[in-house]
Amino acid sequence: MELRAERRRLSNAANAVLTMQAAGLEPLTPYPGTVKKWQCLCLECGNEVTPTHDKVKQTGRGCPSCSLKKRGLEHRLGADEAAAVMRAAGLEPTSAIPNLKPPMAM
Ligand SMILES: [Zn+2]
Repeated sequence: MELRAERRRLSNAANAVLTMQAAGLEPLTPYPGTVKKWQCLCLECGNEVTPTHDKVKQTGRGCPSCSLKKRGLEHRLGADEAAAVMRAAGLEPTSAIPNLKPPMAM
């Protein structure tokens, strides 16, 4: 019985590590449990972040500052695509595309 519990604990921990890695994080400490802050290194920006496994599992987002940047990038790509559509139609946009949200103030 004890062996089985130990094995389950180990496989939970291994799955938790995989969840964090999928979100771009490298855990720095052993799995603390799903709702406890877990010290991880963001592989994108190199910052240390302390999300909970539970939150990362639910949102798929690891590092808060990188996920903010990614959302900003999506907006910019949207603007570039819109400009490309205009150019394809033979038009050259001469001003910023209306109705795009201004960049979020940090
Ligand atoms: Zn990051």
